[in-house]
Amino acid sequence: MFYASWILPLFNRLIPLPEGELRTAIEEYSRKAGFQLNNIFVMDGSKRSAKANAFFSGLGKKKKIVLFDTLIQKHTTAELLAVLAHETGHYQLKHTRTGLALSLFQTGLMFFLLSFFLGNKDLALALGATEPSFHLNILAFGILYSPVSNVMSIFMNRISRKHEFEADAFAGKTNDAGQLIAALKKLSADNLSNLTPHPAYAYVHYSHPPLLERLKALQSI
Ligand SMILES: [Zn+2]
Repeated sequence: MFYASWILPLFNRLIPLPEGELRTAIEEYSRKAGFQLNNIFVMDGSKRSAKANAFFSGLGKKKKIVLFDTLIQKHTTAELLAVLAHETGHYQLKHTRTGLALSLFQTGLMFFLLSFFLGNKDLALALGATEPSFHLNILAFGILYSPVSNVMSIFMNRISRKHEFEADAFAGKTNDAGQLIAALKKLSADNLSNLTPHPAYAYVHYSHPPLLERLKALQSI
C-alpha cells in the first residue's frame, strides 16, 4: 500500500513519466484493459544495476506503475506496453490478491508453529546452553523451520509459474504476443538468465518459467 509512495523513495528517485508517446500509449492501453491508473513513475534503477523491471504498486483500485529507467532505455514503446500488459494480466486475473492471501497464510502458519517453540525448555539445552533461553529457541526454530519453508517455496513457485503463463497469455490476447516475445528475449539477455536450466532445478527454485517455455507458450497464441 505504501511501497511506492513511502518506502521506495528512501532508496531511489521516482519522477512522473513525462507527457509523450509512451505515456499516451500506456494510458490508452490501461483504459482499454479496464485498469485504473493513479500515476506512472520512472525510477532510477540504473543507480544500482543494469537489470530492467517494471511493476504495479498499490492495494486500492487505482494503481501506480513504476518503470525502471533501464527498461525504458532498452525497449521500444510496443515492447514496454507488452510488459505492462503482462503485469495488467497479473492484476486482472487476481494473482496479486491470491499471492497476498497465500503469503499471509504462510506467515500465520510460521507464527503458529513458532508459538510451540518459544516456551520449550529443551531446545536451548540441545544447542549447548546451560539454561533455557528464549533467544536460542528462536534460533532453533529458524534451523528446524528451514526444511518446512523450502517445501512451501516449491509449492509457491509452482503457483507463481502458473500465474506467469496466465499473465503471458493475457498479454498475448489483449495486446501483442510478438512484442512480449521480443521484450522477454531482451530482458533475459540483460538479466543474464540461464536459457537451459536443469528441469529439476527450475522446478524447485524458479518463480518464473524458463524463457524458452514462455516463448513456446506465447508462440502458440
Ligand atoms: Zn509476471
